[in-house]
Amino acid sequence: MSELRIAIVGFGQIARRQHVPAIAATPGARLVAIADPAAAPADVPHFAGLNELLRDGPVFDAVALCTPPQVRSAQAAIALAAGKHVLLEKPPGKSLSEIAPLCAAAKAAGRTLFTAWHSQFAAGIEPVRQLLAVRRIERVSVIWKEDVRVWHPGQAWIFQPGGLGVFDPGINALSILTRVLPEPLFVTRAELDIPANCAAPIAAELDLADAAGLPIEAAFDFRQAGPQSWDIRFETDHGPLTLSSGGARLIDGDRVLVDGKNEEYPLLYRRFVELAARGISDVDLAPLQLVADCFLLGRWREVEAFEDRA
Ligand code: NAP
Repeated sequence: MSELRIAIVGFGQIARRQHVPAIAATPGARLVAIADPAAAPADVPHFAGLNELLRDGPVFDAVALCTPPQVRSAQAAIALAAGKHVLLEKPPGKSLSEIAPLCAAAKAAGRTLFTAWHSQFAAGIEPVRQLLAVRRIERVSVIWKEDVRVWHPGQAWIFQPGGLGVFDPGINALSILTRVLPEPLFVTRAELDIPANCAAPIAAELDLADAAGLPIEAAFDFRQAGPQSWDIRFETDHGPLTLSSGGARLIDGDRVLVDGKNEEYPLLYRRFVELAARGISDVDLAPLQLVADCFLLGRWREVEAFEDRA
């Protein structure tokens, strides 16, 4: 299999922290360029944007789009038209409907479009999926609370239209639920708190269900001081299963089954390399669909304006 030469577009927090080391750790993948308005590491060719990269950059096969979601689908369309495979960071875009044309373009070009839900690659996910498949699930409770000022300093896009607000991290929890629960989910209630000066929620309380009436509740909050929570608890007929640390840790009752190190992005890139080698796509829109339904069904409540101190 030939090497997949990858360019990262959007060199912010996630590209630096996860994509660069994950590409370096992935057999058959190599980082060949970076496109971002600001500077990049000196040892990788840098371009001001995707168009400049395509015009002046080295030969490459694939892009990892790590830009804010508002600009991602337009970039994906350009990259696919240029014959590149495309990895879309989560969420895949700023809307659901903009993804279908990308799927069609990828198919027509024989290129890969990959919606990269990194939380689905956390260490506890496959084990909990297998346990839930053989247990009766009685109730699910999600607590996904973090301090936006700590984790997203200066990221103004997050509270703009298409930025998803607290659903930016919350969609990770939804991507875990859609992966591990045996039946499709739907939203039954959403209470959304939106700061007076923002276009996206800072907190949300949700109820979801499946066709059998499984009760699922979720609390997302971006104003969490103190301990941060990325936890999902499944009450089952054989006791509780708890996923914590964003899915890295799995506890069955009081027994720790998985306490994994963070391998999400290396696994995600392994998948991308496999998909690109075959020129096929892996597009999962279920988590974004749930967010869209929260926005459709939600009761919006105006709360105190949010000031980023970054
Ligand atoms: P970020 O730190 O704001 O990085 C985004 C980068 O993209 C910035 O350097 C930005 O430059 C650049 N950019 C903006 N418009 C561009 C354009 N048209 N062409 C090229 N580059 C452009 O955001 P992030 O935290 O890395 O998040 C990016 C995406 O990854 C989001 O969808 C997020 O949900 C996802 N993600 C983030 C995390 C995390 O922990 N941060 C984890 C997993 C996934 P300027 O700043 O100059 O605009």
